[in-house]
Amino acid sequence: MGSVANSGMKRMLADIDSEAGYTRTLTGRAAFDRRVMEAMAQVPRDEFVPDELKSSAYDNGPLPIGFGQTISQPYIVALMTDLLDPQPDHRLLEVGTGSGYQAAVLSLLCDSVYSVDRVAALTRTARTRLQRLGYDNVHLCSGNGYLGWPEHAPYDGIIVTAAAPYVPEALVAQLKPGGRLVIPVGERFGFQQLQLLTKEPSGDIRQRDILGVAFVPLIDGEPEHSDGG
Ligand code: SAH
Repeated sequence: MGSVANSGMKRMLADIDSEAGYTRTLTGRAAFDRRVMEAMAQVPRDEFVPDELKSSAYDNGPLPIGFGQTISQPYIVALMTDLLDPQPDHRLLEVGTGSGYQAAVLSLLCDSVYSVDRVAALTRTARTRLQRLGYDNVHLCSGNGYLGWPEHAPYDGIIVTAAAPYVPEALVAQLKPGGRLVIPVGERFGFQQLQLLTKEPSGDIRQRDILGVAFVPLIDGEPEHSDGG
């Protein structure tokens, strides 16, 4: 990492720490897991944003990545990763690959990441990028994430990085007992609540509201294969 990226990274990590501090009463977490912060420190966010936005790559905010989509705010990526509590032997599912950034962070903390996006062009770009950067335990496909990715289920954890009006049933079904599902639930431009769902060993679901968030919508229906931006 160049020295500019390096100083940007230090600032990004400090911004995440301070935002974690002032949201502590909402999230119940004053600081994120050390391993989560180490993973955040290792992934070069500037590689996941468009060239013309590289100077903002380490700002603690979302950035556009084309197709009307965004790479999430670093604090939100850290928070969702922390809530998912990934372990070295975990197989995880992400719905909403986007740039591949969240998948890269997760890949450093678990055995393997499966990630699905409905925009085929984003899947292609993310696959090339993740291969080039050496994240070889991330597997991508394009499809409708409302259906999960049944071929590799069940998962130890599932993270959804777009807001759904309700928790898709297939995702709950593809979660192992004891597994966690982190998902923003709410309407497109309305209030969205980041939720943590835990599947008890009995199969019962426990749900906790974490905090209000603003995500692009999880769109139901056939995947998109156009190359338009
Ligand atoms: N996690 C990404 C950011 C995700 S933005 C990152 O780290 O960069 C939300 C993504 O969800 C977009 O790429 C969008 O195409 C995708 N998406 C929207 N609806 C979807 C669906 N039904 N299934 C899968 N992906 C979907």
